Amino acid sequence: MNRADCPYIDCQEEDIAVDAAVCPKCRRWLKRCKKCRTPNRSFSNYCRFCRGELPESNEFWPGCKGGPQRIGLNRYVIPYSPPNLKLKEIINFDFSSRCRSILANDGYLVAVSENGSIKIMDLNRVEKEPYTFTTDGNILAEPALHNGTLYIGNIRNQQVGKGGIYAYTLGGISLDPPEINLRWDMDLKGAPVQAVLPFDDRIYLNIGYKDGHREIHVIDNIKGSKPTSPTCVYNGVRSSTLAADPPTKKVFFLSEERGRLFINVFDHSNGTAPVMSSKPVKDAPSDFLEHIPIAVLGAKIFAVFGDKKDLCRLDEYKSSFDTKITGRVRNYALAGMNKQVVINSTGVFSTVGNRQEDLIRGESIISGPVVLRDRAAVVGMRDGKIRFYKLNSLSVQDESPVFGSNEKVQTLAAFKDMIAASNHKGKVKLLKIIN
Ligand SMILES: [Zn+2]
Ligand SMILES: [Zn+2]
Repeated sequence: MNRADCPYIDCQEEDIAVDAAVCPKCRRWLKRCKKCRTPNRSFSNYCRFCRGELPESNEFWPGCKGGPQRIGLNRYVIPYSPPNLKLKEIINFDFSSRCRSILANDGYLVAVSENGSIKIMDLNRVEKEPYTFTTDGNILAEPALHNGTLYIGNIRNQQVGKGGIYAYTLGGISLDPPEINLRWDMDLKGAPVQAVLPFDDRIYLNIGYKDGHREIHVIDNIKGSKPTSPTCVYNGVRSSTLAADPPTKKVFFLSEERGRLFINVFDHSNGTAPVMSSKPVKDAPSDFLEHIPIAVLGAKIFAVFGDKKDLCRLDEYKSSFDTKITGRVRNYALAGMNKQVVINSTGVFSTVGNRQEDLIRGESIISGPVVLRDRAAVVGMRDGKIRFYKLNSLSVQDESPVFGSNEKVQTLAAFKDMIAASNHKGKVKLLKIIN
């Protein structure tokens, strides 16, 4: 027998359909155990019935994780695709500074402003005011959600360029009144930049220093209340962003040593605190960007090289250069194993294998892409609009004005049939996809 009632103690509704994602009475999010199907509360890590660990999302780039390039894949298949999409505003709120990131997970939207203000909203109960709290100092690095915890890296002393990292347990957000608990907090020698990347029981950090050099640090035992001190695993001038591939349990970054490119791998299938292994890449481009944005899919690593911003593909298994895909790339997302949706400074296109298909011009793309599975690639525009490209036929598009025509769409996130967008002035809007 499973426990099938609502997991929220102030509700305990008994009549819940086995596949319901939301409680029909209190409308709160139900996080289903994969083993026994028991519904659990948002951000819980263990099943209240079988005590099994609730699985982390294994999507390639879930919007909730905040990859280095803010790319995201929304697993939920919406019933509509362009040219029949419209957006209906559900709710909006304001920050006093630019909104740095929006992340969606477990039925909640987490919006983080550059000056350290954080708002968390229940996406199924949007009539409730967002829960708001503040951290000291500016936030440069993309925050992340992992195992019910929000990780925020910030700058604590602007003058010397030192920062730190906070780990907030979100399990109490569904209580009335909501509770956010600071589980641990750590000072760092430099400032976390690009993105914080939690994986397993470890967090990977890209640390920037005032003199311009970069280091990669790791902190272990992050799930408990006593994490280890940061260990520096790489110290150099040119390194890439960090990227993880959940299905193969590997975390990657690229680095340059004396003109050669290296793939650095942490293999978590060998344990929760793996040591780094490094391999030189055969036939790699020699013109490295200072901070290369990378993404990974299985054994293929995608990275942008050189002044021409060439998007290239490397093979981790063979440790060799595969192919150059295209130039002038600013941002990209992969929609599936075979089809990649790429956004560059001139537009959006998809590739099949090594072939570039249908480049669609779109000079004023600012943010995204977020991929709505099987349906659309979503981007934010300079003129305050959100644009949708039909995934199977990118020339089919839809556009919706979301902000004023002089307000850039800065960040995007997707959850179920909702899109959240923020602009450079700190306005955040939650929109429902309709037809
Ligand atoms: Zn309920
Ligand atoms: Zn269970």
